[in-house]
Amino acid sequence: MKALDELTFDNRFARLGDAFSTSVLPEPIAAPRLVVASDAALALLDLDREQAQTPVFAELFSGHKLWAEADPRAMVYSGHQFGSYNPRLGDGRGLLLGEVYNDAGEHWDLHLKGAGQTPYSRMGDGRAVLRSSIREFLASEALHALGIPSSRAACVIGSTTPVWRETQERAAMVLRLAKSHIRFGSFEYFFYTKQPEELKQLADHVLALHYPQALETEEPHLAMFTEIVERNAELIAKWQAYGFCHGVMNTDNMSILGITFDFGPFAFLDDFDQKFICNHSDHEGRYSFSNQVPIAQWNLSALAQALTPFITVEALREAIGLFLPLYQAHYLDLMRRRLGLTTAEDGDSELVSRLLQLMQNSGVDYTLFFRRLGDQPAEIAVSHLRDDFVDLAGLDAWAASYKARVAREDTGDEAERRARMHAVNPLYILRNYLAQRAIEAAEQGDYQEVRRLHEVLCNPFEEQPGMESYAQRPPDWGKHLEISCSS
Ligand code: AMP
Ligand code: MG
Repeated sequence: MKALDELTFDNRFARLGDAFSTSVLPEPIAAPRLVVASDAALALLDLDREQAQTPVFAELFSGHKLWAEADPRAMVYSGHQFGSYNPRLGDGRGLLLGEVYNDAGEHWDLHLKGAGQTPYSRMGDGRAVLRSSIREFLASEALHALGIPSSRAACVIGSTTPVWRETQERAAMVLRLAKSHIRFGSFEYFFYTKQPEELKQLADHVLALHYPQALETEEPHLAMFTEIVERNAELIAKWQAYGFCHGVMNTDNMSILGITFDFGPFAFLDDFDQKFICNHSDHEGRYSFSNQVPIAQWNLSALAQALTPFITVEALREAIGLFLPLYQAHYLDLMRRRLGLTTAEDGDSELVSRLLQLMQNSGVDYTLFFRRLGDQPAEIAVSHLRDDFVDLAGLDAWAASYKARVAREDTGDEAERRARMHAVNPLYILRNYLAQRAIEAAEQGDYQEVRRLHEVLCNPFEEQPGMESYAQRPPDWGKHLEISCSS
């Protein structure tokens, strides 16, 4: 473990120069106070929880103090927002403080979100509010605990600095960690501004640091793009299998590493709904739950366009063609496991889609259905779940197929089935109403609920005594919370 002043910096992105980012100092927020910290994320920096309790910790991650070796930078990028190209975005309210490497030799970007205005702020105030900072923190750590690749969050620091959104709120900062903050939009920026040298420099940088194995192939750029396609197929399969809706899949929010990135109006499904739109501002449902699959592919095409100086259009098309079959294979694999199946049969895809159709029509809680399916032997579990469905004849037909399918498996004992299913079917997910309850308390200065919720979500698969209320379906007030883009 290290002390805060022992972090070792190696600012590789900053060294690319001023074409890639602009030097900006964080603007402090008033009366900084630790809201919540993640032990697991801090450990990535070789820091322990005691460090987070010190006043200097809150000062460092609220813009009051800075390491001499940090080199805070606002990164430039552009991107497609809701399908339209925006030629200039960039870090308008966050700064890459620097890259730190830990004792295991891993580099981690320290990105301070809400750090004040930059040349990319456009009309914005450069701030993040407490509400959205808590949501980003909880989601990052919850996704990670579910085994879904994501940027991480080490802490939220609250303040008394007023910020205006629909009403007056308070500014906060999140310390986000990722192996890189380079987005699809970073490549698009240099492509559309016709800066071939810089585009090449960016590609070389990403290749060398994040896809070194691609450098050993004959066509490194193509190998890198193919791996990005593969990683996205796996990532989106996980989102769909676990009911995560991102909400703003603009290309500036798509990480070059294939991790979940940039949290706004995201939501986990409560009731299963293919058409669910979590972003209140997404009137056409471009980023609805089921659209995440074709949109991910659309985003990959946008990245491919920016890579045309290095890769032939034919080869790019072929690589993009891998996305859907790979996605389907990963998704089916995950859904089989969620159903407790250990082998593959031809009819499995249909078994899954029939179930989802029945759930769709009945408003069944997506998470609890799978959890309860593993609680008891298949036969008994299905009969208990039956009451949740409207189409009883449909459910009975599905249940007969499912029971027959389970009977054909060479499964071990019931305890083994239960353990296997519970290991992939979470009991606790970040439901919007749980986040909302924690945020409302935090806005009154009480951080206990955020901390408790974070702890619960760190172990989503394990039943935690006394925490039953965190596994409940939303109460009426929490069913249709409107989450806007304003954050
Ligand atoms: P986001 O919706 O958070 O992905 O942000 C899209 C773009 O708007 C990025 O360039 C952000 O840096 C910028 N942005 C969002 N909110 C603010 C804000 N309050 N102040 C300045 N820039 C912002
Ligand atoms: Mg963004």
